[in-house]
Amino acid sequence: MTSTTLPICIAGHWRAGRGERYATCYPATGEPVAWLNAANLEDLEEAIQCAHQAFLHSGWAQRKPHERAAVLYRIAEGIRAQAEELAQLQRQDNGKPILETRALVASAAATFQFFAAACETLEETITPSRGDFMTMSVYEPMGVVAAITPWNSPIASEAQKVAPALAAGNAVVLKPAEITPLLALELARICDAAGLPKGLISVVPGKGSILGDALTSHPLIKRVSFTGGTRTGKHIAHIAADKMMPVSLELGGKSPTIVLDDADLDHAVAGVLYGIFSSSGEACIAGSRLFVARALYQPFMQRLVAAASQLRVGDPADERTQMGPLISAAHRESVERYVALGLAEGGRLLLGGQRLEGAAYGQGYYYPPTILEGLGNQQRVCREEIFGPVLVAMPFDDEATLLAEANDSLYALAAGIWSRDYKRAWALGRRLQAGTVWINTYKQFSISTPFGGWRDSGLGREKGRLGILQYMEQKSLYWGMNPQPLAWAGINMEAAS
Ligand code: NDP
Repeated sequence: MTSTTLPICIAGHWRAGRGERYATCYPATGEPVAWLNAANLEDLEEAIQCAHQAFLHSGWAQRKPHERAAVLYRIAEGIRAQAEELAQLQRQDNGKPILETRALVASAAATFQFFAAACETLEETITPSRGDFMTMSVYEPMGVVAAITPWNSPIASEAQKVAPALAAGNAVVLKPAEITPLLALELARICDAAGLPKGLISVVPGKGSILGDALTSHPLIKRVSFTGGTRTGKHIAHIAADKMMPVSLELGGKSPTIVLDDADLDHAVAGVLYGIFSSSGEACIAGSRLFVARALYQPFMQRLVAAASQLRVGDPADERTQMGPLISAAHRESVERYVALGLAEGGRLLLGGQRLEGAAYGQGYYYPPTILEGLGNQQRVCREEIFGPVLVAMPFDDEATLLAEANDSLYALAAGIWSRDYKRAWALGRRLQAGTVWINTYKQFSISTPFGGWRDSGLGREKGRLGILQYMEQKSLYWGMNPQPLAWAGINMEAAS
């Protein structure tokens, strides 16, 4: 690690931010990875003004779709060319195991490639004519878009916003989480090298409490794409309402995973484990409420606990590691408070529940896979997002009660069903209230499939071929085809001539 100050990308220039100097730290050791100065409010204003000028004058918005796509394809290639370096950097920035960060980097490249294709194949339509005119529906870029991302999967969530926003012809001001700014900065470098006109992307690392409102309420910001906590998302939604500005909000979750009595238990155990404990549970879609058919409950839980106790928690640089540390000391304390609350509410620990310390874990913020039972769906650990490796298991007796409980949550982001009976899974899947339902699988993603939440889990959808339209304004064009003037004015052409 060097103590040199990293430059940030403001308005097409690489220079030190004018905000507070701080270090980003490796959660596995607590040691600094890089030093940088945050952007301050003046930097932010410069970035927004410059993005606006670049939007108006760089010619990006006017380029033909296939020409913009060519730049996005080069960005995808740029990410691939330094994939290992980026994966290692992301591992250091947020402590995820290297196998996981490699997958996130690959997904970021695929996202740019996908939206390049979406851009050059986006069709504008001629709508059925209902008069003496031809009608068209077309799409225009919006201007300057703010992209705001959390710390848990930086390069993937940044790509999911920046790629469609640029593909649509916009400029972007990207605000990464204060504690994980490094991948956003690398992405801006790759955009530069790929030939994106200067000023079209700025990266403003810094505290949301300082930069957030100034960014989202700025009159030149025409859309906000936000991923983060529900409280912050609602705050942004209020600001957006005042400006009549569209927003997309990818927020929290408390997803139910359901094991029916005819499930393939090997698949279900593997899927439930992956659903809650991969990413150390720091995932919006973590399957944190487990409902198991009562007839299966005891044997299933025995297998689940035995398998969970074998998960390898440790050094994120080790390719065998399945769970790394949590993001910070403060976040680990928050997870610990939730487990203590679950126990105080009458829960029993089946596994974990004590922070991992000692030589093997150094100063890292490690927490083991933790499984609680003996709690009901009404208790706080089942209602609030813990965002850590904590699973609450509950037996159920019949599908009607199960469905009511699974749907009884402020959140509605995702759900999982394990069953060998596809008709039963279909019926249940259609009645679960969630943006994504996985059947006999969990936490699988495809950039070609829309993603987003209902209720407190968010507004709008990212991904999917039409995800690009989130970053465009629709416009209708009418072309008059009548050789006569409009009848209303009563102009007689023959008399007039
Ligand atoms: P936060 O909402 O605290 O932060 C998310 C981002 O918003 C950060 O960049 C943060 O900056 C910024 N921010 C904070 N305050 C404001 C503000 N007033 N205006 C604008 N931006 C602001 O969430 P967490 O960092 O705690 O992230 C975890 C949350 O993200 C979880 O709830 C999780 O479920 C959700 N999430 C949702 C996903 C989804 O797709 N649905 C995916 C991943 C996570 P700063 O870094 O300074 O705090």
